[in-house]
Amino acid sequence: MSATPQILTPDGAGGSFLQPELETMSQAEIRELQLQRLVEACERVYPKVPFYRRKFDELGVKPSDIQSLEDIVKLPFTVKPDLRDNYPFDMFALPMDQIERVQSTSGTTGAPTTVAYTHQDVQYWGECTGRGLAMAGVKPGEILQNSYGYGLFTGGPGLDYGAVRLGCVVIPMSGGNTDRQIRMMQDLKPVALSCTPSYALHLAEVFRDRGVAPSDISLRVGIHGAEPWSNEMRAQVEAGLGETALDIYGLTEMGGPGVSVECLAKGGMHVNEDHYLAEIIDPETLQPLPDGQLGELVFTTLRRQAQPLIRYRTRDLCSLTRETCACGRTFARMSKPIGRSDDMLIIRGVNVFPSQVEEVLVTIPGIEPHYQIVVDRVGYLDVMEVWVEVGESIFAETMGDLERFQKMVQAKLYGVLNIKAVVKLKEPKTITRSEGKAVRVVDKRKGMLPGS
Ligand code: ADP
Ligand code: ZN
Repeated sequence: MSATPQILTPDGAGGSFLQPELETMSQAEIRELQLQRLVEACERVYPKVPFYRRKFDELGVKPSDIQSLEDIVKLPFTVKPDLRDNYPFDMFALPMDQIERVQSTSGTTGAPTTVAYTHQDVQYWGECTGRGLAMAGVKPGEILQNSYGYGLFTGGPGLDYGAVRLGCVVIPMSGGNTDRQIRMMQDLKPVALSCTPSYALHLAEVFRDRGVAPSDISLRVGIHGAEPWSNEMRAQVEAGLGETALDIYGLTEMGGPGVSVECLAKGGMHVNEDHYLAEIIDPETLQPLPDGQLGELVFTTLRRQAQPLIRYRTRDLCSLTRETCACGRTFARMSKPIGRSDDMLIIRGVNVFPSQVEEVLVTIPGIEPHYQIVVDRVGYLDVMEVWVEVGESIFAETMGDLERFQKMVQAKLYGVLNIKAVVKLKEPKTITRSEGKAVRVVDKRKGMLPGS
């Protein structure tokens, strides 16, 4: 699309469109398409999925009752326990001979749940992630090092299908084996890297330790998501790898990564609205919230055939905007999720999100972007420790200096969290590096009753 404003990466490569006619539809066209597909989704699940038939009947709603997008509030919600209760096959809307594959969650929050795909579902998946690669400026024929885990986790296959759809050359690295990752990056010179932001930071650190400058790496752009990360962390990834780092969001229940993807304007992730209908609700009252307000993100799959989901509550907290983006796309954008409502720690009654801790830590020079929050209960009292890894220069200082440093970090955390967090300084390279999603929180209180 020649009329599209060009946003460039620092080395001058612009973003592009995989399907410009879809990605730049007017909001009115999007809403019309969404209404038609919402009705179709209801028609797919109501006769075929006993769980939905029961839920619809309980609420006295039929697919034909959906006359406008606002009517979505008549439909039932779906929550993670529903998927577990119907594990492994009872949420499928099609017989096995039409299912091509299943994937599973990483199980960050309990028992795994599966998701099924038809052949067509897989093609749509590639469309969603392929759009993300195109908007990041990756071009057919260019090389993507895909360092998301391959296997049950949706990250690896999701980006792979997108690269295939766009016509890129994929290096299917998967996660881990960092030496080999670095070797491939130096030998094959990929322009794009896909992996979790925490693993991108780890790769940057290994390059730095080996004396490889960011300018010696061929990367131009990174597609990093699957876990919350701050803009400060983005700056560190960009500096460390010499790339433009973009966000990508998804969840297994919706089919994996590519539900929304960030463009070079970096103003939020474009929801692939022809595939997913996004709502923001108040997690307490369950009522819809207007654009711009922070609330819980809820998705309905509009096209998925094998396992369509209606109003799935993600527990992720963010807001939506529908203003046309500088990149020319019209799809609504979601802000970076600040965490999941079920990731939220309640410490002595105060709500704490790991992302708040990270935002403080990454602004303090001398601290490495590796940390862990350890919560325990002593008697009736919650205690929160933040383990912070310091750089070599800080660690070489005297005990007195270290103590002053520790107090300063503690005070900064207090300023933001309003509760005391005991900061423990850790030696360089002692906090475990992640190859996939980082484990930021160790909550030892789980299963403990107050005072036990
Ligand atoms: P689980 O981690 O529950 O096993 P998934 O692997 O499907 O399941 O993870 C999906 C979750 O990961 C999302 O609901 C969200 O909390 C988180 N997530 C995914 N992408 C992002 C992102 N770009 N930013 C923040 N959080 C993300
Ligand atoms: Zn955009």
